[in-house]
Amino acid sequence: MIPAPFDYIAPTSVEEALAALQQHGDDAKILAGGQSLLPVLRMRLNAPEMIIDLGRIDALRGVRDDGDAIVVGAMTPHSVVGADPLVAEHAALVTKAVAHLADAQIRHRGTFGGALAHADPAGDLGGPARALDAQFVIAGPGGTRTVSADDFFVDLFETAISDDEILTEVRLPKHTGWGAHHEKMVRVAHQWPICAVAATARVQDGTIADIAIGLANMGSTPLRARGVEEALRGQRADEDVIRAACARAAEGAHAPSDLNGSADYRNHVVTVMCRRAVLGAVQGAGA
Ligand SMILES: Cc1cc2nc3c(=O)[nH]c(=O)nc-3n(C[C@H](O)[C@H](O)[C@H](O)COP(=O)(O)OP(=O)(O)OC[C@H]3O[C@@H](n4cnc5c(N)ncnc54)[C@H](O)[C@@H]3O)c2cc1C
Repeated sequence: MIPAPFDYIAPTSVEEALAALQQHGDDAKILAGGQSLLPVLRMRLNAPEMIIDLGRIDALRGVRDDGDAIVVGAMTPHSVVGADPLVAEHAALVTKAVAHLADAQIRHRGTFGGALAHADPAGDLGGPARALDAQFVIAGPGGTRTVSADDFFVDLFETAISDDEILTEVRLPKHTGWGAHHEKMVRVAHQWPICAVAATARVQDGTIADIAIGLANMGSTPLRARGVEEALRGQRADEDVIRAACARAAEGAHAPSDLNGSADYRNHVVTVMCRRAVLGAVQGAGA
């Protein structure tokens, strides 16, 4: 289908984009890579009167080292994030997840911030963002605020970003030396996950010193598998211990039922995927 008619502007600064959002209010929609927004417009599920394209704002693109965090500009394409050496060294879980995200064309157009702002609970980046305790920097008419990953994802396709605000960058606290593994279950290649588990761990002398696990498509937002984390912290990085702990992977989750699988199926399969993800992470950390 052809989208409903809309006006289009492409500001060159965040300030200009914010002013346009203020001016057009509910009638405006931000365009990043367009990989989720354009299908929505073409299906006429949304018909904004004004599209504000962030594609010409250079300040929103790129990856930089900022002391204790790696900062990813919201408009940085997935392909750039996936190939970035700073991200690979300090936030390896993101590198692993991006490698599994859609196909090369979509990774070239789609953006890191766009995918997180879209907040599809099946998205591949929400789990890693939760696991790494990412911080979301949001600009609005009153200035800039920072929101934790725990508070950023509010509900299905809903985040802490208000209608008059723009996500400008995502801060990934450094997890240098941590092993990382992203386990994704799909029916066909390059698809959204039926569910996915993102695990990152620090191992010291064969013991799991610290671990963080994010889940995708196990609820209306990306989740943390806190029960598994608690059960594993301070334990030997041993397969039987990990298997027993990962039996708790679905604790507190509200898995959906759809054509790809029932909630019961997901609740079972996530325990298997969690074991694989944790084993991959601890092995990557030298266990
Ligand atoms: C066929 C197909 C398969 C895919 N498979 C996967 C997959 O396996 N895993 C996965 O994770 N993703 C997948 N995606 C989605 C992909 O990751 C998109 O890049 C992502 O969902 C949206 O990013 P975008 O930059 O294209 O944002 P857009 O589509 O431009 O925007 C998405 C939404 O976020 C808002 N938005 C964007 N940027 C900002 C900002 N800076 N501040 C405030 N609001 C903003 C927009 O207004 C819009 O509502 C797939 C997409 C397609 C088309």
